[in-house]
Amino acid sequence: MAAEAVKESEAVVKPKAERQANCLACNKLIKKLKRYYRDGKFYCSKRCWRAFIDKSKLEEKK
Ligand SMILES: [Zn+2]
Repeated sequence: MAAEAVKESEAVVKPKAERQANCLACNKLIKKLKRYYRDGKFYCSKRCWRAFIDKSKLEEKK
C-alpha cells in the first residue's frame, strides 16, 4: 500500500518549471535567496537588472 502511494506520486511528473531561472544580464543561475525581481523578470542582483535595462534601451534606440 505504501509502495503504491510512492509509485503514484512518482508518476505525477511535475511540469518543468517555466519560471525563469537565469539572470537576464549575466545568465547565471539565480538562487532563490538572491534573486532580484523586477517587471516580471528575475536578475541575480540589482546591478544586473540595471545592466539589462540599459542594454534593452540601447537596443530600442537602434
Ligand atoms: Zn546577473
